[in-house]
Amino acid sequence: MNLNGKVAVVTGGNRGIGKDISLTLAKAGASIALCGTNEATLKETSAEIEKSSVKSLAVKVDVSKAPEVEAFAKTVLETFGKVDILVNNAGITKDNLLIRMSEQDWDDVLSINLKSTFLMTKAFVRHMMKARQGRIINITSIVGVRGNAGQANYAASKAGMIGLTKTTAREFASRNITCNAIAPGFIQTDMTKALGDKVKEELIQQIPLGFLGETSDIANAVLFFASDDSRYITGQVICVDGGMVI
Ligand code: NDP
Repeated sequence: MNLNGKVAVVTGGNRGIGKDISLTLAKAGASIALCGTNEATLKETSAEIEKSSVKSLAVKVDVSKAPEVEAFAKTVLETFGKVDILVNNAGITKDNLLIRMSEQDWDDVLSINLKSTFLMTKAFVRHMMKARQGRIINITSIVGVRGNAGQANYAASKAGMIGLTKTTAREFASRNITCNAIAPGFIQTDMTKALGDKVKEELIQQIPLGFLGETSDIANAVLFFASDDSRYITGQVICVDGGMVI
C-alpha cells in the first residue's frame, strides 16, 4: 500500500501501538506529525521515522487540552501544508471498580481518550474538507464494544469513540472523508505490561486464535484504512483481537 506524498498525524505516535503506526505509515511513504507528552520518546521515534526518508514533526502536546491541540494543528499545517490522515491513538487507563472510582480518574480517562478525539478531529477535518479527501482512524478497544469489570471510565471512553466514529463518518462522507475505528484486543505494550503472567494466561484462554497480539497487528490495519484500498469503507469498527469479539 502506497502512501507516497501523504501527511499523517498520529497522536501518541511516540510509544507502543502509536509508534508502530508512525513507523508503518512512514515506511509506506507518508510524512508523519506525531504528538505525545514525553519529549525524549518523541525525539527518539522521530529519528526512527526519518530513516524511511520521509519528514517527521514531533510535538509535545497534551491531547486533552484544546489550546494545545489547536496550536499543534497550526504547526502541522504550516510545516506540511496539508493533512491526509489522522490517527487518534493516544490513550490511558486508570482502572478501578466503579464503586471505588474517583471522579478525577473518570474525568482524566474521558478527557484523554474521548475528548481528545473530538478536539483533534475538529482541528484537522476542516482542512480535509477543503481538500475533499481524508482518512480518520480512531483506536478504540474491544472493551468499548463489550464492557469490562474494573474499567468503567475506559470502556465508556472507548464506546464514546465508536459513536463519534459513526457520526464523523456520516457528517463528512459527502466530502470524501472516511472515518473508521479499530478495536484492539490484547496487545503487548507498556499499557498491558503490568498484568501478571496468571492474568495473561487467563486472557489467552479467551482468545480463539490462542495468542496475544502485537503492535504490528494494529499498525497493519491502520495502514489499510489510511490507504486508497479502503475507499468504500466508512463508519465501521474492526476488532483486531484474535477473535475475542465474535
Ligand atoms: P501505551 O501506554 O503504550 O501508549 C500510550 C500513548 O498515548 C503514548 O504514546 C503516550 O504518550 C500517549 N498519551 C497518553 N496520554 C497522553 C496525553 N495526555 N497527550 C498526548 N499523548 C498522550 O498504550 P498502547 O500503545 O497500548 O495504546 C495505544 C492505544 O491503543 C490507546 O488508545 C489504547 O487505549 C488502545 N488499546 C490498547 C490495547 C492494548 O492491549 N495495548 C487494547 C485496546 C486498545 P506519552 O508517553 O508521551 O504521554
